[in-house]
This record gives sequence, structure tokens and C-alpha cells, in this order.
Amino acid sequence: MAYKKSVYIRAKEIMNKRRLDAERQQEMRHSQAVMRCPELLTLEREIASYGAEVIKAVGMGADAGDFVRRLSVKSLEAQKKKAELLKNAGLSEDFLEPVYSCPVCKDTGTRAERICPCYTELVRQLAREELEEKASLSRHSFLNFNVNNYPDAEDKVLGVNQREQMTNVLSFCKSYAADFSLKSPSLIMLGATGLGKTHLSLAIAGEALDRGYSVLYDSAHNIMNKLEAEHFGKDSFSESIREDLLKSDLLIIDDLGCEFVTQFTKAELYNIINSRILSSLPTIISTNCTARELEEKYTQRTASRILGYYYPLAFCGRDVRQIVKKAP
Ligand SMILES: [Zn+2]
Repeated sequence: MAYKKSVYIRAKEIMNKRRLDAERQQEMRHSQAVMRCPELLTLEREIASYGAEVIKAVGMGADAGDFVRRLSVKSLEAQKKKAELLKNAGLSEDFLEPVYSCPVCKDTGTRAERICPCYTELVRQLAREELEEKASLSRHSFLNFNVNNYPDAEDKVLGVNQREQMTNVLSFCKSYAADFSLKSPSLIMLGATGLGKTHLSLAIAGEALDRGYSVLYDSAHNIMNKLEAEHFGKDSFSESIREDLLKSDLLIIDDLGCEFVTQFTKAELYNIINSRILSSLPTIISTNCTARELEEKYTQRTASRILGYYYPLAFCGRDVRQIVKKAP
């Protein structure tokens, strides 16, 4: 799973804050406990001194075992006294223990050199929040995609019933999302503006994210602007978008064809598409362009990569946004 670097950085910051908060609260509870029973400090120093004395066992030879055992007994007795002191002060035995959000990794994100599930979950949640801010995933789910907004009439160009076609497209997208993996095919969503291409690609994005895959979603216009800014040094402080485009588990390029096309953007688009095909990473492109327009705009080799490798989904109907706006 390759999430954006910003997501990992934010996750690390949150983990650090959780750990520091737990440790600060522990310190506060400790000072409360000392105020109630000052003898606690003496006992704690005693316990610490037994720990420090263990080092003396080195070089003792045969006597080392006995020495360490005596220290352990003394240490255990002091710990029992400490527990009694807390109890007598009306405090629980674990009152002085830090309370971590995740007791497994103690809010470090790793345990025994392995990533803790709490960290994986946090990263997934942050990735979802980031996409939610950009595109409102909650408004674009399969549940609120209404096929009744599509006319129960034939599409003259495709020669199919529009509502049936969109029912099939919806059903395909649902299965695609449910079975999504790095082996999933790439998709090209074709059709005019406002037919639900963005809606269904975001519905897929939401499910892929929920299942732990990293998703990068953006319009072709924004992607190209960011690449240009990075390439021409206008945005040298931002993180590299190129790496995210090439490595995210699922890349969704919305509205291809509406951006300003230059030699630079043509080359970049080919590089993104070709590199992801070579890495076997799925991509979803939505476009208002026809196959011929793709060829004309982006060169024949780019169009043939897309049309040769991507599974086509034809959207039809009327502009759903206009229909929804008119609804009472
Ligand atoms: Zn954890």
C-alpha cells in the first residue's frame, strides 16, 4: 500500500501526540499520587536502585545468581509495598501506568519490528479523510446512485436502453469495487458530462480505501497543473506528486480532456499510463472524449495504450446533475 507521504507524516504526528499525551497524563497522575502519599518517592527510588545494582553481578562469578535473586526479592517486596500505598490512598494498582490509545504498541505504531494494526488503521482513516475533503466520498456512494434518473428509452448512438445500460454499468462498478485488488483491470469511463462517471469512480474509491488500498483521485486539470508546477519549479516545496501518481494502488484521473493540453502534458500522461500498465497497477480514467478525440489530443500511442488495456464503460442518459437540481 503506497499512500501519499503527507498521510504517513500526519499519521506519525498523531501517534507521537497520542504517546506524549499518555506520558504527560501519567506524570500528572504520578504527582497526584505523590501528593497523597509522599513515601511513594522513597519506594520508587528503592526499586530503581535494585535495578541499578544488578550490573554489579557482572564479574561476581558463582555468587552472581544469589546476588540477583536477593535483589529480585527485595524489589518485589518494595513493589508490593508500593501497591499497598496506592490502595491505602484510594488509588488503583495501575494508577501510575500510562494509558495508551493502543496498549499493544504503546502508541509507537510498531511492535516487535512489525507495523501495528492501529497504525495501519490510522493511515487508512487519514487517507479517507483527505479524499473526503477533496471529493466528498460520502455523497458519492453506490447507495445514492439512482438509475431511475436515466431515461427508460433507447440511446440512439449506442442502440441500447439507457436505464438498462446504466443498471449494467452500476452493477459492474459494484462488483469491481467489491473484488478490487492490485490485479483489477483499468477502466475507462466514456460519456458526456453529468452522466455519473465521477460519482461511480468515487464510489469505487471509497470501497477500495475501506479495504485498505491507497487511492489517488484528482481531475486531469489539477494533476497536470501540479506536475507543471513541480517540473518548472513553481512549487518546489510540495511533495512529489509524480511518485504518488505512479505508486498509489488505484489512480483515478477525472475529466481527462478538459485540461489544457501541451507537449509537456501529453508526455506526462503517456508516462503515467504506460508506467502504471508496466507496474500492473489499476487506473480509472473518466472522459467526455471519444476514442478519436483521445487520439487527436494525446497522440495515437497514448490512445492505443488506453483503448488497448482499459476496460471500457459507456455511460449514457441525460445530465443527471440537471435532473437532480430540478427535483422538488
Ligand atoms: Zn498499536
